[in-house]
Amino acid sequence: MVAPNMDLHHITSQRSPLSPDEVQAWEPGFAWLAGGTWLFSEPQPGLNTLLDMGKFNWSALQADEGTGLEIAATCTIAQLHEFGGSASLPESWRATPLIQTCCEALQSSFKIWNEATVGGNLCLGLPAGGLISLAAALEGICIVWRRSGAPQSILASEFVTGIQQTTLGPGDLLRSIHLPHWALKKQPAWRRFSQTQEGRSTALLIGTRCPETGEVLLTITAATVRPIQLRFPSLPTVSELSNRLQESVKSSDYFNDPHGTADHRRHLVHYFAPQIIEELA
Ligand SMILES: Cc1cc2nc3c(=O)[nH]c(=O)nc-3n(C[C@H](O)[C@H](O)[C@H](O)COP(=O)(O)OP(=O)(O)OC[C@H]3O[C@@H](n4cnc5c(N)ncnc54)[C@H](O)[C@@H]3O)c2cc1C
Repeated sequence: MVAPNMDLHHITSQRSPLSPDEVQAWEPGFAWLAGGTWLFSEPQPGLNTLLDMGKFNWSALQADEGTGLEIAATCTIAQLHEFGGSASLPESWRATPLIQTCCEALQSSFKIWNEATVGGNLCLGLPAGGLISLAAALEGICIVWRRSGAPQSILASEFVTGIQQTTLGPGDLLRSIHLPHWALKKQPAWRRFSQTQEGRSTALLIGTRCPETGEVLLTITAATVRPIQLRFPSLPTVSELSNRLQESVKSSDYFNDPHGTADHRRHLVHYFAPQIIEELA
């Protein structure tokens, strides 16, 4: 967690529970605090209490060739990036270059790089969330601890529902993201556009191809308000791809911001998608 920023005038209390169970009642104005890189980056007028997750002591990464990769929500982007470059990754996990690519697809200062967490990136739900792209493209499952009821498994591609909107309710906690072993074995290809080399992504498209069935999954992120996925039983032709893009991505799914117009984003999606399919072939 970064040092508390005294500019957050509305915050009157910061607690460091040893486990989520210590937070019995959830009140309006409470927020989970992960790396704090977004929470401390702008005024938070609706909040008065931060609940620091730093003492939960969750194991950051657990890799098992037979089951996949378990990423704790509190795992930092730097930890995941280092893991993505490790020589001991299972050879059968062909998709692992995506790990470093997606970690690097963030406009990150030194502080963000070292403090921001994977869970914070998903929960913030920005379209340019590089870890959202990774989790969605590799068919990740988000484990969510609800304030009431049993933990839930939610597809990462469905976890983010819009710009800074997720399926989380007040007080719900993202515990971890599971990347299944069979998705990690897929052949990957990707394209990214940003206005500057280390700038925020305007579009990030990732394709994967299953070595056994030939199935292709195209995941569109950063260009659209939420991740959008197109699945094909085999490599689509150029016209099949174009038709599916027209049908599946509505014009209202693209958005304008300082990093690109909706029209530019649409152009990038239609420009990159055939390149990815060609590379997967
Ligand atoms: C200059 C700058 C540039 C940035 N550029 C980018 C960018 O290019 N792409 C991008 O995606 N983001 C960007 N961000 C936003 C942000 O810093 C990152 O997305 C970061 O990953 C957030 O992680 P964190 O751990 O610091 O989250 P925090 O700031 O601690 O929390 C973010 C939000 O998620 C909630 N939260 C965190 N963890 C959990 C959890 N496990 N369960 C439930 N809720 C949780 C918090 O309550 C809070 O609402 C940028 C921020 C700044 C200041």
